[in-house]
Amino acid sequence: MKIIKKIGDLKIVDKERPIALIPTMGNLHAGHLSLVKQSKNLKLTSLVTIFVNPLQFGPDEDFETYPRTIAQDEENLEKENCDFLFLPDKTELLKGIKNLKAPFSNFLCGKSRPGHFDGVITIVNRFLELLNPEFCFFGQKDFQQQLIIHDHLKKNNFSTKLIVGQTIRDSNGLALSSRNNYLSEREKKNASLIYTYLKEIVDQLMQELAKDSLNISTNVLITCEKYKNKFEEEGFKIDYLEILNAKNLKKLKKGDTEILVAVAAYYKGVRLIDNLICDLSSS
Ligand code: AMP
Repeated sequence: MKIIKKIGDLKIVDKERPIALIPTMGNLHAGHLSLVKQSKNLKLTSLVTIFVNPLQFGPDEDFETYPRTIAQDEENLEKENCDFLFLPDKTELLKGIKNLKAPFSNFLCGKSRPGHFDGVITIVNRFLELLNPEFCFFGQKDFQQQLIIHDHLKKNNFSTKLIVGQTIRDSNGLALSSRNNYLSEREKKNASLIYTYLKEIVDQLMQELAKDSLNISTNVLITCEKYKNKFEEEGFKIDYLEILNAKNLKKLKKGDTEILVAVAAYYKGVRLIDNLICDLSSS
């Protein structure tokens, strides 16, 4: 694996095979590495970026303490046969950068983290402009993020195709996240209740929608309230628990077929997010 630190050196990235851009903030786990694996399976030139992006953190968030484990990340990427690792210099990367506004920011994480997605899209756009990759890889775990990237690519006529990797979980079902490192083993086990409840919500929703006995928005409201209470009883502080149209993050309407069940909750002060998609078109 070649490590690149200067923008000018990106020209060494060979263009013989299509490029897969895989942006990350490092502290790589099996979720990140699954994206690298996927790109390798597709015989692409994998290019991982590690950049703890200051633009996407709010003033009271964990930018300073965010785990930075470059040596270990390099080792893990080598094992996956990653082709390139780009470790940009903050000053060089941010110099003259176009600050962008993200769409879909009035919902979910965008609502509780003002400016977060503006910061994400500003940096991702910089990488896209620098590399003009054939593909970019993002995880479903950050559902709203991949939706915003998808919209950005389309609206700006990038030829880059987005590939969304499924959420990788630990054996209890907790979605892997660098922030899980803030929790003890026992706390992680308890936090896996997020996945258990998400699955229950999807099951209930499928059953209720199949019966079609109640108005859809009433169903959604009742289910969300019930599960918010269940979470709170187990020591979670809910930021949001929402059931929305997965295509546009709008309120669910009769006839919608792709449904997003998304949650953000604090457990022991750590903000965890997860989601499941319920595809009714196949049922
Ligand atoms: P981050 O380093 O948190 O910015 O994440 C970098 C990329 O890895 C994003 O596209 C995430 O959606 C993706 N990612 C993070 N956690 C997971 C996971 N558990 N499974 C799959 N992809 C993930």
